[in-house]
Amino acid sequence: MHIYDDEVFQMACDQFKVIADYLEVDPNDRERLMFPKRAIAVTLPVHMDDGSTRTFQGYRVQHHLTLGPTKGGTRFAPSLSMGETAALAMWMSWKCALSNLPYGGAKGGVACDPSKLSRTELENVSRRYMQEMIPFVGPYTDIMGPDMGTNEQVMAWFMDTYSVYQGYSVGEIVTGKPVSIGGTEGRREATGRGVVYLVERAMDMLKLDPEKCTAIVQGFGNVGSVAALSLALKTGVKIVGLSDHTAAIYNAKGIDVKAAEQHVLKKGTLRAFMQDDHVDPNEMLTMKCDILAPCAVDRVITEHNAAKLQCRILAEGANGPTTPGADRILDQRWDEVFVIPDILCNAGGVIVSYFEWVQGLQSFLWTEMEVTDKLFRILEHSFSQVIRRAKEHKISHRTSAMAIGVERVMKAKKTRGLFP
Ligand code: NAD
Repeated sequence: MHIYDDEVFQMACDQFKVIADYLEVDPNDRERLMFPKRAIAVTLPVHMDDGSTRTFQGYRVQHHLTLGPTKGGTRFAPSLSMGETAALAMWMSWKCALSNLPYGGAKGGVACDPSKLSRTELENVSRRYMQEMIPFVGPYTDIMGPDMGTNEQVMAWFMDTYSVYQGYSVGEIVTGKPVSIGGTEGRREATGRGVVYLVERAMDMLKLDPEKCTAIVQGFGNVGSVAALSLALKTGVKIVGLSDHTAAIYNAKGIDVKAAEQHVLKKGTLRAFMQDDHVDPNEMLTMKCDILAPCAVDRVITEHNAAKLQCRILAEGANGPTTPGADRILDQRWDEVFVIPDILCNAGGVIVSYFEWVQGLQSFLWTEMEVTDKLFRILEHSFSQVIRRAKEHKISHRTSAMAIGVERVMKAKKTRGLFP
């Protein structure tokens, strides 16, 4: 038993062990690479609108500090635990290293349901969380960003709280903040855009005509909505499946994603959208399509449905959507399902966050075109490295991507040595 005991952390460790065996990592180095450097748990007492005081649990995990400060999103979700936060931090480490960013991985969040909080309550939770984290984070220590359940506004409250305590504006403490207060053009769209860039590269390799392709996108938040809109409007792919936590829709003739976006802007969710086409959310994942993009929660592709997937490309917009059990099945189906693993597929977010951090530290301004161009160049480099190594070593795309990340962290640890 340890403080990270949790199924998601176990899954991240199981994935790591596959890579450690493949890389023949010295047993003395394995735990040092796998376990987080630091973990912080806080209790947040918060004034609620009805006059009561409620306490929430908050977490922050800093996985390693070998390559620079840690970097990672902040998740507000009811079931968040220390173990899940640690798993997400570990994935961030391999993701940052794969993209060659000077960061270790981190993740944090609060166990709460943001949809059940008023705006004032959400602000109170956000500010109190940042206030409790002040001794442990900083522009050169640990930089926060958005994740599930948080957005630009939450990042603005984080930045404001931190800055008030320092006595001057410290934009570099968070990324994903509004452009009006030092955010980077294109950050909000970066993850979804990156997903689509890589899907286009995969379609190209597989000689698939986008105009004849169909896609199912799970999740219609930051990542899923940008990915679905971009696939439909820019790439010319027909979206046949779309879901959020309230509804899953499938229509072989196609879904008007712009109308879905308008609906969500007005009503908040997809619950009442295209009601005649609602399907079972789990079954939607195994319905016919060329591209399946899970862009919501972890562990949705499992050993129970991996054999049934009918997609040609699995584009993992979410973190940890595929379990190791599913991976074993997908490894057998390597010539049927082209996997774009999460640490590559959704890296667009942290890459543009890195640009935002650099811009903040140096008071630089780049246009959205410059940002997107730099983003695609980094993704292109990672994509070709992952594909090349997978082909040469006859390994899965996930093993290839993670091995590149783990290897970089391992080499840096070896070079720096162990103190004392
Ligand atoms: P978000 O909060 O903006 O949106 C989440 C979406 O998923 C919502 O539409 C929600 O309704 C839906 N959802 C939640 N539970 C669901 C379920 N069980 N089935 C179907 N839909 C469900 O979150 P986001 O920022 O878009 O993040 C989504 C995923 O992408 C997460 O795994 C996150 O860690 C990962 N990610 C996000 C970023 C980023 O920049 N935001 C970067 C990298 C990875």
